[in-house]
Amino acid sequence: MKLEEIGEFGLIQRMAPLCMTRAEGVYRGIGDDCAVIDVGNDKFLLITTDLLIERTHFRVEWTSPEDLGAKSLAVNLSDIAACGGIPRDAFISLAIPKNIEVEWLDRFYQGMSQLARAHGVNLLGGDTTSSKSDLMINVALTGIVPKNEVLLRDGASPGDKLCLIGVLGESAAGLKLLIMNSTVSNSHRADLIKAHVRPLPLVEEGRILARSGYCRALIDVSDGLSSDLTHLCKLSGVGVILFEEKITVSERIQAVFAGDDVDPMQLVLNGGEDYALLAAVSPEGIDNIESSLSRIGTPFQVIGEFTDMPDRFIIKPNGVSEQIIPQGWDHFIP
Ligand SMILES: [Mg+2]
Repeated sequence: MKLEEIGEFGLIQRMAPLCMTRAEGVYRGIGDDCAVIDVGNDKFLLITTDLLIERTHFRVEWTSPEDLGAKSLAVNLSDIAACGGIPRDAFISLAIPKNIEVEWLDRFYQGMSQLARAHGVNLLGGDTTSSKSDLMINVALTGIVPKNEVLLRDGASPGDKLCLIGVLGESAAGLKLLIMNSTVSNSHRADLIKAHVRPLPLVEEGRILARSGYCRALIDVSDGLSSDLTHLCKLSGVGVILFEEKITVSERIQAVFAGDDVDPMQLVLNGGEDYALLAAVSPEGIDNIESSLSRIGTPFQVIGEFTDMPDRFIIKPNGVSEQIIPQGWDHFIP
């Protein structure tokens, strides 16, 4: 059987029964943004890890070493944010091909260190080895969260509002510009590419949601809205109605792709790597969360509602409803 027949999540499901040999101390294992470990005090330990491979996740000619170092940590910070956690300590492993120079690595670590410092994260170890071909970067990150504040993917209930924290589509837009080798001289071009090569994890926003007491479930949008929303619904056992016209397409995307044959809404619905957050919020908490997030300048939109039906629908601006089909990133499906 080829991996593309089952996809990344089919593979995870297939291997999961082999992974748990001791249930004690494991509050949440495979299937959420972080593993959640009960170490016996009033806080949970969170652990997440991400692997970035040259030519699969990045191209060295498209990113500065500083940006790549920062992004390698940022994608993990986003998973801690998606559990409402406070990041703590990171471990980094590199497989380095011959053509990478020490000065490049200096700059890579400077970028990572800058973001680590901003979040109070130490880089406490890891491993380095040579690579015969591509550069490979693995970061593992721990975090902590008070037990009564942990946010998981399975807590959404019918009637909860579907909320988007942050902006969607800009990373995919930036990637498109890089792939197209676009020379469009638009003032927004650099910002979109920056959204792709140096995403900002919404750690403070995750804490605001966790502390509010109104957030029922949370996931970060790493694979794309259509895919990540599907994960959240399936794990919570709820359906959803998503209103397309409630989702703002950023001015930058509209300006850069105006008159192009790129559909900006496709970037918003299916583009990955924005590291925005999708939350299920109980209706009475919307105002509270909206005002807390506006104080730090983070976009917040109510874009849908969870239902007790099994289906996941998007209502198009013309009123037609369509099934949401996960069309985001899967590593093994072409
Ligand atoms: Mg995640």
